[in-house]
Amino acid sequence: MEVAHTPYRQAMALTMEGVHHTFGNLAVVRGVDLDVAPGEVVCLLGPSGCGKTTLLRIAAGLETLQRGRVSLNGGEIAVPKGRHVPPEKRNVGLAFQDSALFPHLTVLENVTFGLRGEPTRQRRERALTLLDQLGMSDYADTYPHMLSGGQQQRVALARALAPSPQLMLLDEPFSSLDARLRDRIRDDTLHVLKKVGAATLLVTHDPEEAMFMADRIALMRDGCIVQVGTPRELYCAPCDPFVVAFFGEVN
Ligand code: ADP
Repeated sequence: MEVAHTPYRQAMALTMEGVHHTFGNLAVVRGVDLDVAPGEVVCLLGPSGCGKTTLLRIAAGLETLQRGRVSLNGGEIAVPKGRHVPPEKRNVGLAFQDSALFPHLTVLENVTFGLRGEPTRQRRERALTLLDQLGMSDYADTYPHMLSGGQQQRVALARALAPSPQLMLLDEPFSSLDARLRDRIRDDTLHVLKKVGAATLLVTHDPEEAMFMADRIALMRDGCIVQVGTPRELYCAPCDPFVVAFFGEVN
């Protein structure tokens, strides 16, 4: 006999509902609904100034929520004029275009920094594993000023991943790198994100990067999401001429 069961609804790692944000009179995010499932990489794609970074900063808790709701793993973390869980309590990993490392700490110490409270050996092992996965284990005892920009960016990604955050928020993490290096770091980063199963929201203005990295792409224009779907859906079944024009730039 077949057993009837209630469909299981997996809690989203991140859910944003009806999010609006203004700076003075300028509405930069206008009614955005977006979610990221555990283990999924969602790329927030769109031209410069369309509101991507602001939306990411709202998810991180770096901007106060003005309108809408934000939940992490099913629990509400921000309500306008109400609950606001601060960034350090959200269990999110952050890496930006120019993530600054602590200059007085070695590479290893930079990565273990966020793991305080765990036994030293465990912290060290976890950090070395991540550094190895990102091709940086030979530099564990090196100081940041001795590294290239690309190497520093790899360390910043390892540091963000070290505490096993439920959600990784990445803002143009590869854009300061030269093209050849960028491809390799993208590759390694995607590999590590998938290996650790992190839910990831990645901001980029580069359609090619989104096509490569994303399980789903959310394409933004003027503070609104125009279309969300797999890279294939956006490329093969665009819902708006803007989507066609945007992906026309991919070679
Ligand atoms: P994107 O990441 O897509 O380039 P942003 O979210 O950085 O877009 O910015 C969206 C708009 O909000 C831009 O017009 C930008 O100038 C403006 N903006 C961003 N941050 C601030 C701020 N702190 N104060 C005023 N305007 C801002």
